[in-house]
Amino acid sequence: MSQKNEFKLNPKPSWKELPIASIIPQPSTSRFYLTGDWRSFRPVIDKDKCVGCGLCWSYCPDAAIKWFEDGSVEVDLNYCKGCGVCAEECPAKAITMVEEVEE
Ligand code: SF4
Ligand code: SF4
Repeated sequence: MSQKNEFKLNPKPSWKELPIASIIPQPSTSRFYLTGDWRSFRPVIDKDKCVGCGLCWSYCPDAAIKWFEDGSVEVDLNYCKGCGVCAEECPAKAITMVEEVEE
């Protein structure tokens, strides 16, 4: 005799129905969190050594590097966490990590 499986999963709530402790009040809020406040080292780019390859831009885990059409790059210190990945990957050794100082 076959038994009918009565087990049913509770339907998952949508993100809008999550309790108030939810950490995502609405989508697309990451730009409001200035993660650069966590940094203890900052990258400094030597523009004379930079060859404009854009590798630092592609490796940065926080999308904190802007890569312009002329090949120049710039670090957005509002979001750079100072991980040093860009300095590690730069083939021209144009990025140096320097200790952050309080202003
Ligand atoms: S990886 Fe280095 S050489 Fe390439 S764009 Fe970035 S700073 Fe310039
Ligand atoms: S130090 Fe890290 S977070 Fe900052 S620009 Fe370089 S790769 Fe991005």
